Amino acid sequence: MKPQPHLRLTYKTKPDQPLALSCRVGIGQLEAFRTKPWHNCLAIWDMGASNTSITQDVVDALQLSHHTFVRVDTALGSAMAPQYLVSILLPNGYQIKSLAVTLGKMVAPLQVLIGMDVIAKGDFSLVRGKETCDLHFTCPSLGLDNHHKEVKRLRALDAPDKPKVAPFTPNQSRNSPCKCGSGEIYKRCCEEKHRAEQAEAWKAAQPQVPPAEEAEPVPAAGA
Ligand SMILES: [Zn+2]
Repeated sequence: MKPQPHLRLTYKTKPDQPLALSCRVGIGQLEAFRTKPWHNCLAIWDMGASNTSITQDVVDALQLSHHTFVRVDTALGSAMAPQYLVSILLPNGYQIKSLAVTLGKMVAPLQVLIGMDVIAKGDFSLVRGKETCDLHFTCPSLGLDNHHKEVKRLRALDAPDKPKVAPFTPNQSRNSPCKCGSGEIYKRCCEEKHRAEQAEAWKAAQPQVPPAEEAEPVPAAGA
């Protein structure tokens, strides 16, 4: 899978229900020692967590061994938790290698909690629509002052109701003799061909937006 710089996930919003920003990710052993395929896990994006954590099932499935213990602060207080080094494969194919994650408890079927240590590696935006909410994550960061501008552009490209029209600027007057020397006026000669060529070039220059992925419903965190 070729990595795409942008990850876009679309969630259906329901009135009076908290939005769970979940998606499928792969968790893997560190690159150098990887002998197993990516372990497919259900993850949740959590801006309230400073560190990414994984459940005991993931530790067992990948036969991970901790390299240290770290202090983890939660709403319930602080405790020591084992820390593991893993790689994460995001749904856009982007890999975050050598990430230190801690062991955490979560409500099944969640297995991974994506914290600010991952989110801060890129540009993160949530864009609320009428009945949907789009999560945009660009990693590595584009270093833009306003990721929302980029998101707006990407959304415009995605909008199904807006026809994608290639702009056309003729390089000569439409009613003057065509520059090809045929003797015909431009609009009856090469204009159509130029239009097609420009449309083709415009299409090729459009950034590739990965398709939105239907999110899987999960119980609200902490429920
Ligand atoms: Zn011509």
